[in-house]
Amino acid sequence: MTVRMILDEKGYDVATIGPTATLREAVELLAEKRIGAIVVIDSERHVVGILSERDIVRVIGLDGPGRLDDAVSTVMTAKVETADGNETIPQIMEQMTAGRFRHVPVVRAGKLVGIISIGDVVKHRLAEMERESHAMREYIMST
Ligand code: AMP
Repeated sequence: MTVRMILDEKGYDVATIGPTATLREAVELLAEKRIGAIVVIDSERHVVGILSERDIVRVIGLDGPGRLDDAVSTVMTAKVETADGNETIPQIMEQMTAGRFRHVPVVRAGKLVGIISIGDVVKHRLAEMERESHAMREYIMST
C-alpha cells in the first residue's frame, strides 16, 4: 500500500490558502472543513507553507486574538516536507514521527496534488493489520 493508493481511495481534495490571507480566514476554513491543517500555495500551486491548528493556537496563546488579522505567511511553517506518492505506509509513518507532524502534502511535478494525514495512515494500517491477522487465522485453521 502506497500514499498514491490511499489518495486514489480517499480523493485528491486539499484545502489550500494563499500566504497573504489572514489567520482569521484560515481559522474559518479549518472550522468549515473540520480539518487540522491547510496547505499554503502560490498562484502556480507550488507549496510555500503549511498552517496547522497548532500554529494558530500557539500564536494566539502567546500574543492574543489580535494575531487573527496577521497574514498566514507570518505563522505558517515554510520548510514543508512533502511526499511524491510512492512512499509506503511505514515510510510515511516514519516521516511523520521523525518530523513530529501529522500532515504531509503530496507534490507531483512541483505542484500540490493531495495531502495525507495521520488519520488516513492509521485507518489504512489498521485495515492492513486486520487483513494480515485474518490471513493468519485462515492459515492456522487450514493446517
Ligand atoms: P501537525 O501535527 O501536522 O498539525 O503540525 C505540527 C507542526 O508541524 C506545525 O507547526 C505545522 O506547521 C508543522 N507541519 C505540519 N506538517 C508539516 C510538514 N509536512 N512539513 C513540515 N512541517 C509541518
